[in-house]
Amino acid sequence: MNEATRPSNFIRQIIDADIEANKYGGRIATRFPPEPNGYLHIGHAKSICLNFGIAEDYKGSCNLRFDDTNPHKENIEYVKAIQRDVRWLGYDWQERLYFASDYFEQLYEFAVQLINKGKAYVCDLSADEIRDYRGTLTEPGKNSPYRDRTFEENLELFARMRAGEFPDGSKVLRAKIDMASPNINMRDPTLYRIRHGVIHHQTGQEWRIYPMYDFTHCLSDAIEGITHSICTLEFEDHRPLYDWFLDELETSCHPRQIEFSRLTLQYTVTSKRKLNALVDDGYVEGWDDPRMPTIAGMRRRGYTAASIRDFCHRIGVTKADNIVEMGVLENCVREDLNTHAPRRMAVLHPLKVVIENYPEGQAEELEAANHPQNESLGRRKLPFSREVYIDQHDFLEDPPKKFKRLVPGGEVRLRNAYVIRCNEVIKNGQGEIVKLRCSYDPATLGANPEGRKVKGVIHWVSAPHAIEVEVRLYDRLFNHPNPDAAKDGRDYKEHLNPDSLRMLTRSYVEPSLVSARVGDAFQFEREGYFCVDSTHLDGDKPVFNRTVTLRDTWAKIEKLHSTG
Ligand code: ATP
Ligand code: MG
Repeated sequence: MNEATRPSNFIRQIIDADIEANKYGGRIATRFPPEPNGYLHIGHAKSICLNFGIAEDYKGSCNLRFDDTNPHKENIEYVKAIQRDVRWLGYDWQERLYFASDYFEQLYEFAVQLINKGKAYVCDLSADEIRDYRGTLTEPGKNSPYRDRTFEENLELFARMRAGEFPDGSKVLRAKIDMASPNINMRDPTLYRIRHGVIHHQTGQEWRIYPMYDFTHCLSDAIEGITHSICTLEFEDHRPLYDWFLDELETSCHPRQIEFSRLTLQYTVTSKRKLNALVDDGYVEGWDDPRMPTIAGMRRRGYTAASIRDFCHRIGVTKADNIVEMGVLENCVREDLNTHAPRRMAVLHPLKVVIENYPEGQAEELEAANHPQNESLGRRKLPFSREVYIDQHDFLEDPPKKFKRLVPGGEVRLRNAYVIRCNEVIKNGQGEIVKLRCSYDPATLGANPEGRKVKGVIHWVSAPHAIEVEVRLYDRLFNHPNPDAAKDGRDYKEHLNPDSLRMLTRSYVEPSLVSARVGDAFQFEREGYFCVDSTHLDGDKPVFNRTVTLRDTWAKIEKLHSTG
């Protein structure tokens, strides 16, 4: 990215000023610190683009660090998925892959230093008692009766905690700060808790005590020499604690914490806990379900990494509430796919058309451009024959005035092929249309001959040549713009959109798609952008996912809602 297109935001202004002042010797080091307790989602993408983007633009570095201090909620599947997703987004941490658990021994030493300084103590209050003693926003807390243990006693007890001598919940190590602080985070926060019987994905059963997030995070940043520790706004009130630990322990590097607002995307949720529940309770196929706002889900849906990066770039970075319309993301996807997705024809709801004046058993190869603007994408062959499929929606027996497609006795152009006329409508016993008898005009291949008025152009596939496929049409996962904060007292799951997935089990695509592979994107003319599904590869039919429609159909619906 060159100077002119570089994003400017308040974080970059802080960094520019720090460079100007020669803070950190002009060095810039950031990190992306996910907890491996779920898959990454679009909110994380914002943080990834921000942290890795800054490192790139300032010729600094960005570490990938797993914040793995909560072993009972974390696992190795998530560790792997997160790495895959960051890489797929287009970012590289090179050799700088770290785990907070790499520092458990060092963190233990830091805790011992605090005890030695009289700044930490072992407390025997239960979790409930600790909460009661903490006070409220308006009332100060009160001191724990264990606050004045001698440092010798604290050292011994802390060592015995580590050795596994005490049961879960019987003791914690706390910082000794100020129980009357107006900032509740400073009221003797817990540094270590006891956890028996958990197997940590990195350290196995080595540890019986685990450090808390606030203690771990700032020290991990300092150990790695991070200069700017960028996090979301909910940590603003934790910043004094972040600085307190680093000041008390006199670490050689004191990173600067900067907070920005979380991304909230309409019609979805971005909380790993809530996404996890959707997976566990079977509301979706898995973390990579194409309706999920996860990076894995968006990838399977056919969103490109470039479009997600573009989206993160466009929404910007601020301290203000950041609720973004889904249409903004979908537009980024459309714009990117429009430039490079080859065009194909696919009939989603097939209606058989028999062209009675076309010889039986004959077929010919027509040709079509793969892209209307980009000739470098080449051309492809399209077989044409006596029987074709068109979409049911492109024929109406009783059309409204402005209907430009096929009607009884009317004409329409088959895209890249001939003009056909509908001579007869064939119905089954239930009165449903099952077939059209048509005729074609052999003189109409290519440009529209003079004097012939054909208003509509529709897509089609040759019936004997087409490939039968399953098509999955996705819609928004929720039908409320703010499922998380709907203010109607209902749980977010009650706002799930029952029509978020429609499966069309008998659709037809043109034969050139026989070579389509996972990762390829196509525009199915007049229908939208589609890709090969990466999960259902071994069924009897290929599965195509609709990535996004051609136009923003939701914009209209939303307008209706807001005007009436
Ligand atoms: P969740 O609530 O989904 O579990 P989290 O903040 O606990 O999210 P982490 O794995 O701790 O998830 O997040 C890693 C990084 O991504 C953090 O720096 C966090 O601030 C950032 N992040 C998480 N969610 C968002 C979001 N919605 N918008 C921007 N950044 C986010
Ligand atoms: Mg977190």
